Amino acid sequence: MYDLILRGGVLCDPVSAREGRFDIAFEAGKISKVAPEITAPARRVEDVTGLHVLPGIIDSHVHVSNWMGGAAGHRMLALAGVTTALDMAGPIDSVMEIAARTGTGLTLACIDYIRPGHTVEGTDPDMPELEAALARARQAGAVGLKILGGHFPLSATASGRVIELCAREGAHVAFHAGTLETPQNLHGMREACDLAAGHPLHLPHVNAYARGFEASAHLEAWEATRILSAHPNIWSESYLAPINGNSAKCSNGIPESVATQRNLIAGGYTPDLDGMAKAIAEGWAWIHLYEDGVTHLETGPVAVQAWREAMTDIGMSFFVNPPETSLSLAILKRDDGSFAIDALATDGGGLPRNDLCERGLALVHLGALRLAEFVHKTSVAPARMMGLSGSKGHLGIGADADVTVIDLAARKPVLSYGEGRAILERGKVVGQGTTMIVPPEGRARAESLRLRVHIAQAGSFRPVSPLYRA
Ligand SMILES: [Zn+2]
Repeated sequence: MYDLILRGGVLCDPVSAREGRFDIAFEAGKISKVAPEITAPARRVEDVTGLHVLPGIIDSHVHVSNWMGGAAGHRMLALAGVTTALDMAGPIDSVMEIAARTGTGLTLACIDYIRPGHTVEGTDPDMPELEAALARARQAGAVGLKILGGHFPLSATASGRVIELCAREGAHVAFHAGTLETPQNLHGMREACDLAAGHPLHLPHVNAYARGFEASAHLEAWEATRILSAHPNIWSESYLAPINGNSAKCSNGIPESVATQRNLIAGGYTPDLDGMAKAIAEGWAWIHLYEDGVTHLETGPVAVQAWREAMTDIGMSFFVNPPETSLSLAILKRDDGSFAIDALATDGGGLPRNDLCERGLALVHLGALRLAEFVHKTSVAPARMMGLSGSKGHLGIGADADVTVIDLAARKPVLSYGEGRAILERGKVVGQGTTMIVPPEGRARAESLRLRVHIAQAGSFRPVSPLYRA
């Protein structure tokens, strides 16, 4: 007796090279049978005729903390068909607390930010201070560290130290490019790749360094892929949404984030409270407004009021991502046929751009990606990067029963499951709780919050590119 059979769907599982009409059966949270027809009895049968059955979608870049994303993220990810995600900034305490309180059945990991005045004292932390920050982050449940160069830059040498430390400790490390010396653009990206000094590094949202500020967006995108080809140690993702994601929070009358300041200046606004109010009122800046359990974009007087009511501490976006860049980076390949950018992510979660189905599947419709390639970039590659390739990213027998069922024509998720438990049912979020991937040091903290726990041993959750040879 199976727990569940998905009957009549079209399977797409690139790892097993299975693509076509198959039934799939779950038992005890695992995939227990895949066959053209399964007639054995089951506690539940879902007719998925006309739908596509994929390995659970893994979003390798999201935000689900009170600093960025807020408490709506778990619900928004579930609605988007995501079953596993990586929070790319923390703060870890907030991510864990929100995961415990608002979980929708996802599997989640988090890397904690290195932020002057928060997790380190200044902009040039030495090695002992960084070691202490990593130890604290791990005890709190984080699998590694995030350098937030574009928002809160460190010195170039301190940024390099973070990467060196994480390589030595087997921790995950991601670098939003940019330092005190170099801004977030192609120069910042080149610098970040050099600072990695051959160590594993997760380079997030590559599209955010090729926005066409210095050359045409097409040329900058091509240059970004050239830089990555020269650095096979680096694992990278890009996203498709036209909006960026940021915080509108101001301290001492100016936006805290350097990125927010730059985006205001780019629109012809002063990087202060007046400039911010004007940019929101006039439709240059968009506020993330919370309504009915999700956030959406709002600009104009209503948005100005929401920003003021939140004492400026609210999410915001600017339309700064040119399609030439995001489309190129999603599909460009290297000479050997591998993708120039390892994964397609969203930088979403609580930020309203969870568009892997909506925009990613549009590329499948255009013939720019085959469905198997979409699955590769949104499940297979992220599962490998997170050290989960045995249990996730494929639909083989014994794998976790993590599945996303999509309506390909509508570009929408219909059903999803995490370890056999329903997360999304015909467009309704039904999942509960969160499985947190934590390092051994973080187990006690996760258990005290009554989270389901998956332990990631040091070295298993590393941003190692498939091309990397240590
Ligand atoms: Zn991000």
